[in-house]
This record gives sequence, C-alpha cells and structure tokens, in this order.
Amino acid sequence: MIAPNRQGEVWVFAEQEDGSLHDVVLELCGKARQLADVLKVPVGAVLPGHQIRPLASKLIAHGADRVYVVEDSRLAHFQTIPYARVLCTLIEKYRPQIVLYGATPLGRDLAPRVASAIQAGMTADCTDLQISDVTDPKTKEVHRNLLLQIRPAFGGNIIATIVNYDRWPQMATVREGVMPLLPPNPSRNGEIIDEKVEIDESLLALRLIERHIEPRKVNLKSARVIVAGGGGVGSKEDFRLIHELAGAIGGAVGASRAAVDSGFIGKEHQIGQTGTTVRPALYIAAGISGAVQHRAGMEESAKIIAINIDPNAPIFSIAHYGIVGDLKKVIPMMIKALRER
Ligand code: FAD
Repeated sequence: MIAPNRQGEVWVFAEQEDGSLHDVVLELCGKARQLADVLKVPVGAVLPGHQIRPLASKLIAHGADRVYVVEDSRLAHFQTIPYARVLCTLIEKYRPQIVLYGATPLGRDLAPRVASAIQAGMTADCTDLQISDVTDPKTKEVHRNLLLQIRPAFGGNIIATIVNYDRWPQMATVREGVMPLLPPNPSRNGEIIDEKVEIDESLLALRLIERHIEPRKVNLKSARVIVAGGGGVGSKEDFRLIHELAGAIGGAVGASRAAVDSGFIGKEHQIGQTGTTVRPALYIAAGISGAVQHRAGMEESAKIIAINIDPNAPIFSIAHYGIVGDLKKVIPMMIKALRER
C-alpha cells in the first residue's frame, strides 16, 4: 500500500493514440486543475507512449503543471501490463494523492489493474468529483480534503458519493463528456519530466500483428445540435421524422434506450447512462420521457427543447423550452418552418 501524501499532486493519465490525446484527457486536466487549486498542489499528467513528447505542451495548456513523459517504442500501442507497470512505478515514486483516468475502454482496463497492484481504491464511471472534509461515520474522525467520487448507482436511481479514507492514492475513472472542456491557455508554463521505466520483456506478453480501426460512424460527442427520438416516436418508419428534422437543422441523430431497444435505430445513437454522454449547444428531445438514466447523458446541454404529448413528462423539468403536443404533428411543422427560412 502507498502511504498517504497530503502534499501529493493531482494526476491525470494522458491516454493517447497515434499521437493524439483522447478528448477526455483534456476534460480531466481542467477538472484536475480545479481540484488541485482547492488542495493547493500541482497537477501532473502521465504520458506514456512512443514519439509523444509534443503532446506535453497541450497538456500544460489545459492545466498540467508537470508532464511525466515515458517514451518507449514498446509503449507505442496500448497493452495493459506494461502500461500498468509505468503507472505503478511512477505512483510509487511520486505518491500523488489523486489519479484520474478517462472511463474509456482503455482507462477501464488500466485503472483497476493499477488499483489492484498498489492496493488502492478505485471508483469507476464517476460523473462528478469534489473535494470536501468527511467524517467517518464509525470512528467520527474528520478526514480533511478527501476526494468525493460521485456516480449514479442502482441503475441510476440514486447518486452515490464514494470516499476512500485510507487507500491511497484516491483513484477514479470519469465518464467522457461530463466535465466541461476548459479553453486552453497556450502561455501557461509547465515542466516536462522524462522518465524511464524498466519494462521487462516478460511483461510484453502480447505481440501486435495487425491493427484494424473501425471509423466511428456516429460522432454525437462533437455535434453542436442533436435531435433525439424516444419510445414515443412509435415505429422505425416514424423515426424518419427525427432524421428529417436533424437534416433540416444540421444536427446529429440521438435516441433513448427505449427507441434503441425497439429497433428504431442502432445502439451507437443511444444517449444516457449506458450510451454516450453529450453536451451540445442544442438538444431536441422528441417523445422522450426524461428518465434519470437518459438525463444522465444529456442534461448538461446548453439548451434543451422537449416535445412530449404528456405535460407531466419529467423531461419538461430540465427543458428550457417545452412543446406539449404530438411529435408527428409538431416535427413536420418545425421542418417546414426551417426549410422556409
Ligand atoms: P418511454 O418511457 O416509452 O417514454 C415515451 C415518451 O414519449 C413518454 O413520455 C410519452 O408521453 C411520450 N410520447 C408518446 N407518444 C408521443 C407522441 N406521439 N408525441 C410526443 N410524445 C409522445 N435510457 C436511456 O435513454 N439511455 C440510457 O443510457 C439508459 N440506460 C439505462 C441503464 C439502466 C441500468 C436502466 C435500468 C435503464 C436505462 N435506461 C436508459 C432506460 C430508462 O430507464 C428509460 O426506460 C428510457 O430512457 C425510456 O425511454 P423513453 O423515454 O424514450 O421511452
């Protein structure tokens, strides 16, 4: 176990692929900056890979004070065991107090492996992080400045706050898209620290023969406008209304799980707790009730327009504009108005 270090840095694992940082890393840098400012400690970013040094300045611009670069051709492509060795070695050397990972497929693979190797705690899939004093309900001892790791639990019906009293560092994976991406400041100063980590050949159990990357067909994350349809659309045929409205307004098509489960549209369009988390400038929710699991993926949208036949639908409680009516009448009117502009 790693001894607590109250002066330790707040770290972000800088996931990259082929020399590009994952978007969630930059979101986490902003959040790490906020947490570190409360704790009055620096932000560190751990950047393993091959030919990745140029990424350090981007991490600094987004809030890192120190970037630990581990340059090794054997780290060119992600493998769990050597990457976990890099993280464990640096955590043992520098003893950060918090380590954050994106809840990406890669982060979900790496973080538990690191947590188990160093016997730290780890909370998966957080949607918020805060710093607060916490009283241990059993011992009544007050623990200063702990990381509150906040995430939906029990199918999204409650929001759980999880704290680690005695397992260090405090570690969490964080969902993509839930932390705002703060604007970079290219004039920020930071330190780049080159680290060497011993990677024994025995750790390289996998040999990469070929890589095949499927391009993402749907990019909901970067869409500024999303038109999403739900169970209330009624059929796959009527879901064409959602596509038409999205086409007319220049937006991407999203869906609730009910629409996906009913076969109106593919799973890659699902928004919510078990789908994609989005925060577009405009989100139009048509025939979507506003269940908590759906809201978890879209309620940070800048403007929400809800169309629902039921005036008591929960979606209206978070909508900026609400239209009570049958989407099959309302949407054609919207399309007509947009086309006539
Ligand atoms: P419904 O509940 O069927 O609601 C349809 C709505 O359409 C109603 O409000 C109705 O009034 C309205 N309506 C009906 N006809 C019309 C009409 N003609 N015009 C206008 N309005 C109309 N859900 C997600 O969306 N995303 C997730 O990621 C997700 N993850 C989940 C994870 C777990 C562990 C669990 C337990 C559930 C999850 N769900 C998720 C499911 C969620 O609980 C809801 O069941 C789902 O969001 C309901 O979708 P809906 O509102 O589109 O459909």
